[in-house]
Amino acid sequence: MIIFQTGFNFSQDGPGNRLVIHLQGCNMRCPWCSNPEGMDSNLVPSDAKKLKVVEVCSLIESARPMMFSGGGVTFTGGEPSVQADELFQVLGYCRDHGIDTAIESNACHPGLAGLLPLVDRPILDCKTPFDEKLRSLGGDPDTRRKNFDLVLSSGKTVAFRVPFIHGFNDSDADITAFVGLFGALAGSFTVEILPYHEYGKSKWEKSGLEYKMTDAFVSAHTVEKFTSALKTAGISVIKT
Ligand code: SF4
Repeated sequence: MIIFQTGFNFSQDGPGNRLVIHLQGCNMRCPWCSNPEGMDSNLVPSDAKKLKVVEVCSLIESARPMMFSGGGVTFTGGEPSVQADELFQVLGYCRDHGIDTAIESNACHPGLAGLLPLVDRPILDCKTPFDEKLRSLGGDPDTRRKNFDLVLSSGKTVAFRVPFIHGFNDSDADITAFVGLFGALAGSFTVEILPYHEYGKSKWEKSGLEYKMTDAFVSAHTVEKFTSALKTAGISVIKT
């Protein structure tokens, strides 16, 4: 497996203190990506680790004492489903050994469906309510719909995340369509709004890639408008 970053965080990508494993490769190309070095499966950063499944399981096992306060391990990326075959085995290990698992996914990769039954905490991006806009980022709307339905019908609580980007998905029409999309979903879920930031900008430059985002910060007023539209529709909005 190719891992371009590991670290710990507390209560950000799932509950408690968690080992966060960033897997290389992504099927999408979001121009605001904060981990551009993890997007390409072929352009692997020189400090990335190439580990066998058994070595990843050992890494997780050795981190177990740090998984306090109900923590566990979170797989993110890139898009973790790009390495679905190996990740399936690692998730199986975690399930067999009582280690809590979360996956942070763009929900648009067909490999996700096979992983979801083994994941305790699904964290899924919802970048736009519109199919064409999703396609413009490289995402497949049909795959996303299937993955949303699959995970919601499993009875698990899904944490949806919306990267909120001025000029991409913060118009009144976007907000109305987001509320319509979430309002039509059946099952247990929360929505978190993640206003645009520039944390990844220097990494794009370091990776030799052009950072094309300009004027993408969302106003506090627009964030409030979106939050209140979701709440008015009875949708649970959280902040981690
Ligand atoms: S889906 Fe996530 S990892 Fe992939 S390009 Fe978009 S922001 Fe980056």
